[in-house]
Amino acid sequence: MNMHTPTLTPKLAPAIAAYLDGAPKLLIDGKLVSAKAGGLIDVRDPATAQVVARVPEAQAEDIDDAVRAARKAFDDGPWSRMTAADRGRLVHRLGEIIERHAEEFAQLESLDNGKPIAEARAADIPVAYNTFYYMAGWATKIAGSTLSPSVPGEVHSYTLREPVGVVGQIIPWNFPLMMAAWKLAPALAAGCTVVLKAAEDTPLSALRLAQLIVEEADFPPGVINIVTGYGEGAGAPLAAHPLVDKIAFTGSTDVGKLIVKAAAGNLKRVTLELGGKAPTIVFPDADLDRAIPGVTLGSFFAQGQVCVAATRIYAHKSIFDRLMQGVSDAAAKIKVGPGLDPTTQMGPLVSAEQLRRVSGYVQSGRDEGGQVLTGGDGLPGTDGYFLKPTIFTNANPDMRIVREEIFGPVVVAQAFDDSELDALAAEANNTEYGLAASVWTQNAGVAHKMARRIKAGTVWLNCHHVFDPVLPFGGYKQSGWGRENGAQALENYLETKAVTMAL
Ligand code: ADP
Repeated sequence: MNMHTPTLTPKLAPAIAAYLDGAPKLLIDGKLVSAKAGGLIDVRDPATAQVVARVPEAQAEDIDDAVRAARKAFDDGPWSRMTAADRGRLVHRLGEIIERHAEEFAQLESLDNGKPIAEARAADIPVAYNTFYYMAGWATKIAGSTLSPSVPGEVHSYTLREPVGVVGQIIPWNFPLMMAAWKLAPALAAGCTVVLKAAEDTPLSALRLAQLIVEEADFPPGVINIVTGYGEGAGAPLAAHPLVDKIAFTGSTDVGKLIVKAAAGNLKRVTLELGGKAPTIVFPDADLDRAIPGVTLGSFFAQGQVCVAATRIYAHKSIFDRLMQGVSDAAAKIKVGPGLDPTTQMGPLVSAEQLRRVSGYVQSGRDEGGQVLTGGDGLPGTDGYFLKPTIFTNANPDMRIVREEIFGPVVVAQAFDDSELDALAAEANNTEYGLAASVWTQNAGVAHKMARRIKAGTVWLNCHHVFDPVLPFGGYKQSGWGRENGAQALENYLETKAVTMAL
């Protein structure tokens, strides 16, 4: 097969090596299967550009099989008749499976996405299993209400909350297992059945989960279907399928708009978690000992390939030089290397295509007069998709690197000299996106006033990148529709039925 197994420490767990050699399969109707047409997608290690696995390339016919299995499981199967407690127990079991195989999943994520294994161990994998644990508890807490209509005569009215039905879920490559958990957990807790499509760049953890579901969980066939394939070949037919009741998508704003169009055929319910261009605003009274590492993490965590990355740094001119010297020194010290090396602090970008795209933004920043404070180049002597943490100064609001989502380790710092909150918020809000923002100040009044003025689904005060299953997450404006996590995530997967009886 001409495949390359990385020789870096730590050595891959034997179960992972066996899984990669064993031709990962799709999960459709409770069975592990190949794509009908037999197509395969090469999966590359972004640190070496070598192919490490081949996974099935699902196409419209496979998607149709998966959707029909999910339809049958929803309409006729034992799943719909199962008690909420039993359903919750099965959702919980998915968390247990991931926690039991945590180290294997961390290695897979690092190998597939490029992210540092330390990050996968500390963030991706625990967030994934904790999401299942949290959502499992919701299964027994879904409730309607009794209502008092002002109609003549005596009536009894109440609402029922019912699962929306068959859900198509399409996820991106930046947090592969975590995104799968954010999608699967609330949908299953609500009682839906699912067809999940992993990203073509990072299919390995989703298909490993599929294998473990068959081996270690007792879901009725068709409740969870997991497929891999390309956006147009597999994602588009899922978004357009007439037997799918709802589509949940995380990815780029451009593809989000295509999903909306594809969903129009049968007016599917749609939730979208899309791009961002998060501002991080540092006031003159900020505690720089916290802000410097905080802004650095906000900017470069996960190679900056995060929709909430702190990509627009706004700092008051009185502290601009000190802050940016600190962030620039910290960024220059970030150890860039292969994700599977335990000492690596930043891995490669996910793909050659992504490196090309992000490098194009670095060039555009230079062409438009931006000044590179640190970074801007790759790692010499490697075929991996590396780019050092890059900070631009001397920017203005019209530059592409200030306006467009880059989705890489490239951020832009600008100084402000007037701390008038409305004007600052207007600058922070001067974007088509509204996903996240952070504010650094020791003045609690300023912090909470800014939180009210910023148009974004998440505002972090004196921190950045704090995630938890209880915190609703999603976007204002073109950053999306709906919220994931928290009680609100359940809403995405429930219909409301009003029942009235004349007494
Ligand atoms: P990114 O730019 O981060 O790669 P995309 O929005 O292109 O994000 O991809 C996110 C997910 O959407 C992936 O699983 C991809 O396969 C899928 N996708 C891409 N194009 C389409 C499409 N036209 N219809 C449905 N899904 C798509």
